[in-house]
Amino acid sequence: MRQPLIAGNWKMNLDLASGRSLVEGIRAGLAELTLPAGFEVAVCPPAVYLFPIAGAIDGSSLQLGAQDVFHETGGAFTGELAPAMIAETGARFVIIGHSERRHTIGHLEDDQMINRKVRAALAAGLTPILCVGEMLDEREAGRTFDVLTFQLSAGLIGVELDAPERLVVAYEPVWAIGTGRTATPQQAQEAHAHLRSLLQARFPKHADTVRILYGGSMKPDNAAALIGQPDVDGGLVGGASLKAESFLGIIRAALAAVG
Ligand code: PEP
Repeated sequence: MRQPLIAGNWKMNLDLASGRSLVEGIRAGLAELTLPAGFEVAVCPPAVYLFPIAGAIDGSSLQLGAQDVFHETGGAFTGELAPAMIAETGARFVIIGHSERRHTIGHLEDDQMINRKVRAALAAGLTPILCVGEMLDEREAGRTFDVLTFQLSAGLIGVELDAPERLVVAYEPVWAIGTGRTATPQQAQEAHAHLRSLLQARFPKHADTVRILYGGSMKPDNAAALIGQPDVDGGLVGGASLKAESFLGIIRAALAAVG
């Protein structure tokens, strides 16, 4: 059975002191919970804080993730970070293809670049959290499944999966990210079931155990209904991951949903 992963994407928020005290708060809250084996919680701070936050989570069950990675192993790529550099910080996860990198920030990453990043991350022993999701106009035009099929297939070109825990997929409808609008549990389940069926065709041995997270204004009060869906295996959480109480609220809701 799949156990949830709750991953907090801090984006370009917090300073080091507030990141450390957030981790302290999460650690204190987690100490009061009994998570089943396999239930995981991760924080994804800005890259410059990966090393110190690795220190702050030391000795806890918290996992570390990065928000992006470059696809080359080294060289003249000013400002970029190689997968091995990210791995050296102690990070296990790396978010790849977040909608803000696909659509908002000047880089405008395309599926080919995202695929190169996924492969490079895997080669360095990192676990990609591959983000896919439709824009509002694509949903309204009835193209959600086409977009998901294209983005997932393109992101996984040439990927060999030796174990299900080496890959996480995040369904993040772009219209729900940071907007306060959330996909209904039914909309999320439909999208996740579609992604699962694509994984089944691609990795028949592992598809049932790869985790598919939901991301898009997940909060303590909607998390249980979302994570209670059969194919929703946790959350990639933005805004609500910046306060210990709301992040812990989502973790508690996930616990209740799988309980
Ligand atoms: C995200 O950016 O991955 C995200 C889901 O953000 P929010 O929870 O703030 O919508």
